[in-house]
Amino acid sequence: MIGSSMRRRLSRSAAGCDPKLPQFIRVHDSPCSVFPLGHLAFAYLWYVAYAALTRRPLPARWALVPMAIGSQFPDLIDKPLAYYGVLASGRSVAHSLLITVLIAGLVTWGAHVLHRWRPAHRWVGRLCVVTPAAFSIGYLSHLVGDSLGPLRAGAYDSLTYLGWPLLAAPRYAGDSVAPWIRILELYRQSGTHPERPLIVTALLVFISLRVWARFGPPRPADG
Ligand SMILES: [Zn+2]
Repeated sequence: MIGSSMRRRLSRSAAGCDPKLPQFIRVHDSPCSVFPLGHLAFAYLWYVAYAALTRRPLPARWALVPMAIGSQFPDLIDKPLAYYGVLASGRSVAHSLLITVLIAGLVTWGAHVLHRWRPAHRWVGRLCVVTPAAFSIGYLSHLVGDSLGPLRAGAYDSLTYLGWPLLAAPRYAGDSVAPWIRILELYRQSGTHPERPLIVTALLVFISLRVWARFGPPRPADG
């Protein structure tokens, strides 16, 4: 349960978000943040577009794992560290373009090194092949997802996290509330989820592609 003092803290940063959302959800900044399932759905659609444009295998099975991790990675780092006071903002270090390039580069390098060792398990080798693109796409889609709201609202000063450490990251009152509390409160009322159309679209695309892969003409194995 969310306490009354917490509700007061949350409501201080509630301005400018979708008015249909419960007040305790309108916490992050103005305009609103994207929540985990929304990031996941957005990343999946990005990956489908990437696979279609580059004629690569559609994302399924192993590719979905690094894609899902990449799609949540910036929040998994920044939000808990901001809540515990290690970082000044819930969108800072891992939401920076510079750090994104570094982390994606490290993951790509690690996957190539591991693949050269010829891992004993076939699934590890498969994971090494799909991870660089899948993780990077998931990660980049997270930054785009977070930035769309401020861009639409013309709140360009809310995008300074992209330039960290050259630019000071914006502060959010919602960072004083544990991220897992905010997420639990959101998903307790699933009807209010702000990215429901996006999630439903991604789900429909996923089911359609799986049906096509099962019953359509033969094609290369999915990644
Ligand atoms: Zn984020």
